[in-house]
Order: sequence, then C-alpha cells, then structure tokens
Amino acid sequence: MLYIGANLTKALNSTKEGFFSCTINRNNRYREPLRVLAEEIKSWAKQKTGQGILTPQLLHSDSSSFNMSFKSYPPSILHEITTGDGFGITCKQWIPEGEKKPYPAFLINGYVHDVYCLPTEPRDMVRTLLDEGYETWLLQPRLHPTNPSNDFTMDDIGKYDIPSAIAKVCELHGPSVKIHVIAHCSGGLSIHMALMGGHISPVNIASLSCTNSSMYFKLTKLNLVKLTLPLIHISMAILGKDTILPLIETSKESYRQWILKYISRLMPRYERCTYDECTVVSGVFGNPYWHENITPTLHHWLNRQAQLTLPMSGLRQIAKIGSTGHIVNATGEDVYLTHPERIPLPTLYLSGGRSIVVTPETSLLAHQYMKLHQPGFKHKRVVVDGFGHSDVLFGEESYKKVFPHIISHMKAVEQGLVADSNAKN
Ligand SMILES: [Zn+2]
Repeated sequence: MLYIGANLTKALNSTKEGFFSCTINRNNRYREPLRVLAEEIKSWAKQKTGQGILTPQLLHSDSSSFNMSFKSYPPSILHEITTGDGFGITCKQWIPEGEKKPYPAFLINGYVHDVYCLPTEPRDMVRTLLDEGYETWLLQPRLHPTNPSNDFTMDDIGKYDIPSAIAKVCELHGPSVKIHVIAHCSGGLSIHMALMGGHISPVNIASLSCTNSSMYFKLTKLNLVKLTLPLIHISMAILGKDTILPLIETSKESYRQWILKYISRLMPRYERCTYDECTVVSGVFGNPYWHENITPTLHHWLNRQAQLTLPMSGLRQIAKIGSTGHIVNATGEDVYLTHPERIPLPTLYLSGGRSIVVTPETSLLAHQYMKLHQPGFKHKRVVVDGFGHSDVLFGEESYKKVFPHIISHMKAVEQGLVADSNAKN
C-alpha cells in the first residue's frame, strides 16, 4: 500500500512538473510518469479483485464510415427553466397522440448518456411510453451536456433541478398532478435526495421506478477498488477550475483535460473499445454497459453524437456515495436515509443481473428498506438476467425484457389510485 502510494505520488509529481513547465512535445514529457501510474493501478486492481479484467478486448471496429440513418422522432416541447438557485436547466415534453393516460411520466437520466431518448432506436423508452399513452417529460439537469455546470453537487439536482422541473409540470397540469418517476443510476440517487431531503412532495408522485439505483448504491468490486485510490480528488486537482471534460475526439482541450483523459484511458475495466470517447467514459465510471447488448448504431451515436461533454464536479459526491454505499450529502453527512417517512410511495427497483458499475444489492437493500418503512404501499424488485447497467434501458432487447416491468408497475399503481379515488367518491 505504502509502496503503491509512494510510486503514485512520484508519478503524479512528475506529471505535475511536466504539466506546469510544458511548452512543446507534451506526449514524450508525460509518457513515463503516466506509464508508471498505469502500471501501479493495473497491478493493484488485479491484486485486489483477483479477476482477469485487464486483458484488452477490442469491440466494434471503428465505424467512421458507418451509415447513420437517424429515425424520425416525435416532436417535443423544450421548457427552459430557471431553478431556485438561479441555474438554467431544460425539460423536454412529449404529448402522445390519441387517448392519454392520467399521469405523466417523468424521466431522469444517469450521470452519463441519455438512456431514454434515442434517435437511432425504434423502441426506446420515450417512444414506448408515448405508444402507451403517457405524456412524457425528460429532465435535462445541470449535469446534462446541454446545461453543463462547472461546479455542482448531486444535492443541487435533488434540491433545485428536480423540484423546479416538477413545478413546471404542476404549472401546466395543476398542483395536485401525480407523475410516474422513472430514474436511472445517478438520477435514481437524485430523486431519492429530492424526496428524502424534503424538497418535493410525495403527493405529486404516483410511482417510482429506479433502474440500477436507489437510495443505496452498491458498487462492483472493481469500482470499489478504484474508489480506494483518490482518483476523483486527483482528477479534480488536475482539471483545476474548468471541470467540464470535452469528450469528442475533435474537441479542443486544455493540457489539464488532456492529462485526465490520458489517465482515464489507462484505467482497468471489463471491456475495452476502439472508440476513444467510450474508453474515456469507461475509464472514469467503469464500463457503463455490456457492448454485446446494444446495437452498433446506438454505440456510434452515444460516442459521436450524444455526449459532447462530461461535467465532472458532481463526481466528488458520487465517490462519497459509492464509498458509503448509500446517499449522503456533499459533505458526506447521512441526512437522507434518516427520513423514510418522506417517501410514502409505491416503488419498483430493477437491477441488471450481470453486474457492471453497481450490483443487484442496490435494489435488494432498497426493496427491504421500503417494505420495512412503508409497508402500506406496493413494492416490487426485479433482477433481469443478462443485462448490466445502462443497457437495461438502451439495450437492443430492453423493450421486451425490461420496459414491461416498469409499464406494468405504473399501470398497477394507476388501477389502485383509481380504485382509491372511486372509494372516496
Ligand atoms: Zn464502446
């Protein structure tokens, strides 16, 4: 441990010296310290996990000549919203054709990648919900590439972004509107912060469905090992004041950003990929999906069209949450799980059975928590075999193996709400 720490420090000091005195020929200057850093991390991860995870595996040949034919997408309304702390976010709204269900669906993405609105896929979540008659809202908070913040916490999303967006839904549908919330990864953490932090009223939530997230966040062994290294702190120190990382290969980048991307490419992971954007993202988060579960067109779109930037500052809190195993505030205080009374809702927690990023314990613990503290509501847990993390939502077969669980949960809740309403009348 000390040996690793000493060499890491040495490597980073060399990198720092090279960085601050750099003039020309940056590749040669950084190569040796970064190589040392990579070897240290690789050997440590191998020792800790005991898994053969470090063998490069090339997937999807570079498809620069790929024939991308974007499928037409239903028209949407873009709402520009100023949050309670004065930040500008956006929310997309789609209105279904034909008969409309009584409660809108409200979608919250994970930290990276849009998982619900996928122009290349004919059966994404947004199209599925519209086909089912749900008015559909998609939150684009301050970590979304269209509204990237240079300095934010996950608390900010729970305290400001989600309440402001729900207020917009209430403005259009009335204060007693109920919405079905569907949230993924960090979006699931944020909606629990919004509810358990007392920032939104559960009265406006008809049901909650979370994929690979909950008030718990149980990381895989590899991601836990990475967290024991102070990589996030090192990354933020390297980035300095500009914490928004450009991802597209052709983007302009500073030396600081170049160094961080270089380091992220060296990180151990389950699968390696020929797309540099994919390599950088999986270096930061671990592989966010199993490649074999998604279509080549989606993979290309995700890497070359969808994710232009990665706002990094929220990762400080994500690291704290990952280390703790459940949601804590930005300073690491346990302010959320102490309020189970603030989440009186029917819930569905869904995990991919082939763990990547987080384990199914994430949904197991949440399900137990809700059954213990809110026994008067329906709570369901599903583990879907063969899926990993984000591929539960944008996998080629998600529409037939994952979405039905979420839709049936929403419909079951609606039937109960209608029955309750009839009983009161
Ligand atoms: Zn890839």
